[in-house]
Amino acid sequence: MKINTAEFVISNSDVSKCPREPLPEYAFIGRSNVGKSSLINMLTDRKSLAKTSGRPGKTQLINHFKINENWFLVDLPGYGYARVSKQTKQTFQAFIMDYFEQREQLVCAFVLIDIRLEAQKIDLEFITYLGETEVPFCIVFTKADKISRGKVDQHVAAYRQKLLANNWAEMPPHFVTSATESTGREQLLGYIDEVNQT
Ligand code: GDP
Repeated sequence: MKINTAEFVISNSDVSKCPREPLPEYAFIGRSNVGKSSLINMLTDRKSLAKTSGRPGKTQLINHFKINENWFLVDLPGYGYARVSKQTKQTFQAFIMDYFEQREQLVCAFVLIDIRLEAQKIDLEFITYLGETEVPFCIVFTKADKISRGKVDQHVAAYRQKLLANNWAEMPPHFVTSATESTGREQLLGYIDEVNQT
């Protein structure tokens, strides 16, 4: 997919104030510092469409970007940042859950996972929540440039095993990406293109 236009539309923490336009929408979410902003900028080929933040947990809003005038890319707040969790006294903030439970335009959530790390409890909890809420999702492994190709395959296989052990029948669609090397860009955008056409 060629990105012709990518424009910021609105930020808010209230799902009822998200754009009304009935365009298909794809949400990106993951633990703070997983590389979400870098991935969004890599996918859209814009240097700073999403703000890469030096302070994790700072961007606590639902951010809508309109892509090619025909779909929304949604940048959701990172979860699992200790200070934010402590303040809100819950793992996933209520407005994020409202978003997943109420947003009819949502087609698919991309859950970002740092490929270097063992499966983290909070990510598994979030994936379970998406399953229970019946939100279709894909897994996006980030920062693949930080480990060798052989290790990438090993870590993906280990993640699959972990999901199977958590009662998933199969691994969802998944992508291996690196924002610094633009790895996985065509695959991920191609997937969105394909889903948009069905
Ligand atoms: P966010 O908090 O999830 O939005 O994460 P950022 O995009 O701000 O990235 C967090 C840190 O990881 C920054 O220092 C980035 O430069 C680094 N980073 C993000 N993606 C990659 C990647 O694909 N490869 C490498 N080597 N570093 C990355």
